[in-house]
Amino acid sequence: MQLSNKILIGLVLGVIVGLFIGPEGVGFAKKWIAPIGTLFINLIKMIIVPLVFASLIVGACSLGDVRKLGRIGGKTISYYLVTTAFAVTIGIIIALVMDPGEGLKLPTNAVYKGKEAPAIMDVLINIIPTSPVKALMDANMLQIIAFALFLGVGITLVGPKAKPVEAFFDGLAEVTYKVVGIIMEVAPYGVFALILPVVAANGPKVLIPLAKVIGAVYIGCIIHLAITYTTALKVLGDMSPAKFFKGILPAQMIAFSTCSSSATLPVTMKNTQENLGVSKEVSSFVLPLGATINMDGTAIYQGAAALFVAQVYGIDLSISQMLVIVLTGTLASIGTAGVPGAGLIMLTLVLQAVGLPLEGIALIAGIDRILDMARTTLNITGDAVCAVFIQSSENKRAQSTPSVSA
Ligand code: ASP
Repeated sequence: MQLSNKILIGLVLGVIVGLFIGPEGVGFAKKWIAPIGTLFINLIKMIIVPLVFASLIVGACSLGDVRKLGRIGGKTISYYLVTTAFAVTIGIIIALVMDPGEGLKLPTNAVYKGKEAPAIMDVLINIIPTSPVKALMDANMLQIIAFALFLGVGITLVGPKAKPVEAFFDGLAEVTYKVVGIIMEVAPYGVFALILPVVAANGPKVLIPLAKVIGAVYIGCIIHLAITYTTALKVLGDMSPAKFFKGILPAQMIAFSTCSSSATLPVTMKNTQENLGVSKEVSSFVLPLGATINMDGTAIYQGAAALFVAQVYGIDLSISQMLVIVLTGTLASIGTAGVPGAGLIMLTLVLQAVGLPLEGIALIAGIDRILDMARTTLNITGDAVCAVFIQSSENKRAQSTPSVSA
């Protein structure tokens, strides 16, 4: 049986058993089943830093020259920014249309105690690590990316003398891909164990009052998928959406159950290379970058959640305030780490920017995991669409200028 089918069975079984045991079974599920999920996550976390580090260095080097790196980097980042701004806007519009806050009152004792969101300038400044070793130890993805890109550029500029360094990281990247293949064998069990306690704890009954906000985020994600990505695939990527979605499905299921773009990255890379015809060169540059800075699902969620909070508190937002939400939502999603629940912390940044009550986060916090599943799935899908786009544009370039590559 194919691995993706096995993962799907794990997912469906987890939902069914979770519904069956319900809230009474949560204690049991947390004690005996959740650890299997944690083990799976730990396995993936174990490989993530060497994978991102090695593959980005190799990715940057394999682009051959710094101009090519600049060209592909420029295209990738532009694509990420445009689609993300588009995503926040979809989140806002969908929340305006569905009005999820209508008829919902904030419980008076709801006080949200979360970690403080960093200021936007700090997010930018902290991209450059003062100690790269610490960045690697802390698994600080933005910093690791920055360091890897600098090393990649350095290796490229040095030329023949730096070939052994490049070969080392190339070998390391291959080894990490192999380890990922081994880890994926236990994915079906991991997915089952991760999804079960969530379904058991949240069951259908608990979801009803917040079903609309969940619906808004899910519908927003589906619209983005059906319109933005489908168009991008056809126009920019020259690929049929059917082929794309079939190829990326295993990664989507991992994203849905792990709620982590970073943890899903190895599978996203595997799927885009093996099923979507994206070269190692392109995928090892575009995807680690995307898993860290491109979060369309998170952006939709931030737009919709901000509107929802405004609605719950009866605050009318002006158009300019909504534009501020688009801007901060885009920046906040860039600063969001690809780990579970990170988007919720960054939501405070968006609320603060337009002066919405931070207590509103208490409401969202309760259903965040369910929202996280959809947004993470969309986050990694957006990265893969970009990889297909860049591959196609590079192919076209190679065809139109054969003398350059010869
Ligand atoms: N969990 C998301 C991700 O890893 C980030 C978020 O919380 O929005 O992509």
